[in-house]
Amino acid sequence: MHLPFRVMFRLWYRDRRIRNWLDNHRGWVQVYRPRTRDELCRTVHEGAKRYGKVRAAGSGIALSRIVPPCGLRGDGGPRSDQGALIDTRHLRRILRFGQHDGRPTVTVEAGIPIGTLSYILSGYGLALVSPTIIPHVTVGGAISTGSHGTGRSTATFSDGVVEMVVVNAKGELRRFHLEDDDEAKQLYAARCGLGCFGIIYCVTLVLTRDFIVRIRREERKFDDVMNELTACGSTPTALARSHAPRIPSEGQIASQEFVELYWFPGSENVIVYTFERDEHAALSRLPWLPIMLVSELFNLLLAATIVPLIHRHFRYFIPLYFKLEQNFALPKGEQVMRASLAFHYLPTYMQCYDVEWALPLDDAGDAHRKLKQLLDEYAQRGEYPVDHLTHTRFVGPSVSYMASTYGRPTCCIEIVSSKQGSPIPERRDGHRVSETFFDVFDRWMCERGARPHWGKNFVHPPKQNEQEPRWQEFERVRKQFDPEGVFVSDYLQDQVFP
Ligand SMILES: Cc1cc2nc3c(=O)[nH]c(=O)nc-3n(C[C@H](O)[C@H](O)[C@H](O)COP(=O)(O)OP(=O)(O)OC[C@H]3O[C@@H](n4cnc5c(N)ncnc54)[C@H](O)[C@@H]3O)c2cc1C
Repeated sequence: MHLPFRVMFRLWYRDRRIRNWLDNHRGWVQVYRPRTRDELCRTVHEGAKRYGKVRAAGSGIALSRIVPPCGLRGDGGPRSDQGALIDTRHLRRILRFGQHDGRPTVTVEAGIPIGTLSYILSGYGLALVSPTIIPHVTVGGAISTGSHGTGRSTATFSDGVVEMVVVNAKGELRRFHLEDDDEAKQLYAARCGLGCFGIIYCVTLVLTRDFIVRIRREERKFDDVMNELTACGSTPTALARSHAPRIPSEGQIASQEFVELYWFPGSENVIVYTFERDEHAALSRLPWLPIMLVSELFNLLLAATIVPLIHRHFRYFIPLYFKLEQNFALPKGEQVMRASLAFHYLPTYMQCYDVEWALPLDDAGDAHRKLKQLLDEYAQRGEYPVDHLTHTRFVGPSVSYMASTYGRPTCCIEIVSSKQGSPIPERRDGHRVSETFFDVFDRWMCERGARPHWGKNFVHPPKQNEQEPRWQEFERVRKQFDPEGVFVSDYLQDQVFP
């Protein structure tokens, strides 16, 4: 079902030229496309010997400069023909099913898209834990950036990895696993490894039995929802509490296991989107996936035609556009679906700038209020730095050292703006985001200890903090695995591990 749309999300390349999905990063590299494990080992070794730097690419969706090995055109750095990129698209086999601590597992090659895997697993009555909304992300890409889905009792997608086989610079296979404490620590470092732990060949993922969810969309007052979030942030135990199915109404956001918020700037309402477990519900007869596909195609068309037009010539219509968009966003009414399919509810997506901060749950209410206050001030001046929406998810604490949700229950606030959005000057890295708004909000977020998502746009890349034990441990294991820094890109070297 998702396959025809994957092409929109592939890493594009011709000869040695590559660009990512958003087309905000381009580069020149040697691309290798291994089809088997042995070929992967050979190409990684050859790439390391010939070019000095080797990186992996999944679907090329990451909006940050986390994929290319060397300098990029447009980022102020030199054009570089150096570096090798391993395109993992052909490494997409399911290798075996198994068990870990009584839970089902699957071992897959890292280039398989999450949506394809979910679709296959649903046939076996199994589902992935914390998968991304869009189905096109590869397993390797999701793990390496600490990507996540939704769910307070689950952490990131990488937290489901119990074993990982990677190829080092010599072309040898190295296995990371959970079998003793020391090995487990190494796996916690390598899981959300930012591509610095060699090229992941395959991973073993813990799964859950597929379950049925009742999906509801409800509009509620912004202030009420934020008051509720503030209250639940100050009593964190309430969040970890029961997962008993409840209807999302006054005072009950805290007890929902899977809850997401959508807010369109300027609106006094928030869309509360919940997925409630209900083993006894009958599956919806309506073919929801095709309906969502059509609605998303419509969105895509809108994004490609009307949005740029409004931005260029009719900016004062943006509030009206928001109101209309809010009404069309997400299917109305109740749907009952299998979890294995329900959590990939955006099969297509307009090209967008997308920043995401992961902040402690206690600050969720305040952060939303600050966001609204800032955007209201901009709107009063006729400026709309965020011209699409904000999307909030709640995720449990991760044990992967580099994950943005590491060590704490987290609220992930994502801010999405169209490519044409905001009449703001181009940034050096080609991002057309509002310097002022995003800088102000970023500063506010950083002061509260928020961390950015590695696979989305950064305002400021997170720098290594040598005081933090998780960074120290990550660096220790990384240097042990790759003393020459073959898998550390120029960008990560300059901006993250200087
Ligand atoms: C429209 C859209 C929706 C999104 N939805 C979500 C969401 O719901 N939740 C979420 O958390 N994120 C989301 N993201 C972010 C996305 O999950 C990440 O950018 C992810 O890394 C993209 O995966 P990819 O396969 O395209 O990886 P790429 O972009 O190709 O690579 C990302 C990183 O992973 C590394 N990598 C990839 N494969 C391997 C491998 N085999 N071995 C070693 N390293 C590897 C690369 O070197 C790079 O560092 C979204 C992004 C977009 C644009």
